[in-house]
Amino acid sequence: MPELPEVEITARRLGAALAGAEIESALAPGVNALKTYDPPLSALEGATIGGVRRRGKHLIVDVEGAEPLVLLVHLMSAGRLQLFDKRAGPRNRTSRLLVRVAGDRELRLREFGTKQRAWVKLLRADALDDDDALAALGPEAWPDPPPFEELLTEPRPLHSLLRDQHVLTGIGRSWVDEILWTAQLSPFKRADDLVPLESQRLREATVERLGGALEHYEATIELPIPDKLPMPLLVHRHQGEPCPRCGTTLEAVHYEDYVMTYCPQCQTEGRVLKDRRLSRLLK
Ligand SMILES: [Zn+2]
Repeated sequence: MPELPEVEITARRLGAALAGAEIESALAPGVNALKTYDPPLSALEGATIGGVRRRGKHLIVDVEGAEPLVLLVHLMSAGRLQLFDKRAGPRNRTSRLLVRVAGDRELRLREFGTKQRAWVKLLRADALDDDDALAALGPEAWPDPPPFEELLTEPRPLHSLLRDQHVLTGIGRSWVDEILWTAQLSPFKRADDLVPLESQRLREATVERLGGALEHYEATIELPIPDKLPMPLLVHRHQGEPCPRCGTTLEAVHYEDYVMTYCPQCQTEGRVLKDRRLSRLLK
């Protein structure tokens, strides 16, 4: 699940490799991924890639041509934007968007799994900020988010509030577990119950863990961008293993399509939270 660090390293690697490259053609096989029709994909032909950047969990490919355009991409849970030295054959089933660039290279939006949810929009550059996907996003979670005392004011559990892209953008189900564990806060603690010192600790943990992940990727990730990023996670999905801080067995709460992992000793004052999956099975 690509979140801020994974999308940021993708933008950096692709941007460095593609800046100045001329686009030969673009193709969106099937109709699922491409959410716009004006301007048409053919408007990319002959244009030049200016760079690749990130906003929240979105990738933005800047395109310089007759009129400035942008490709806005959301990878959702299983998408990857990758750059290959060889072009895909006609039977390539995972590609949602293929952008052929000079030098026989191909930028591909690929998606793994059965659910096709990754999407791309081709927009005029001046329409980008007003696009629905970006207009309502909160401030970036990294590198310098606003003070959390001002940001996290709603009476909602931290685990849900930190992932709300309208409040703070970039964090998803993996990094939220890591950040809360680092800050030693319960996932179910309500944001309006945080004392100022806890808010500061949470903000520091956010910047530290997202920045640390990015440093890790800077040292390990190369093009074409691997299908599976080796995420440097200490607790998320590590339930049943000892807490790296205190040695207590990490516990988890299972939801329909994700899992929340935490340390009872470090985060919930020794309490093991009710696992809904387990309680449903026992009914
Ligand atoms: Zn612990």
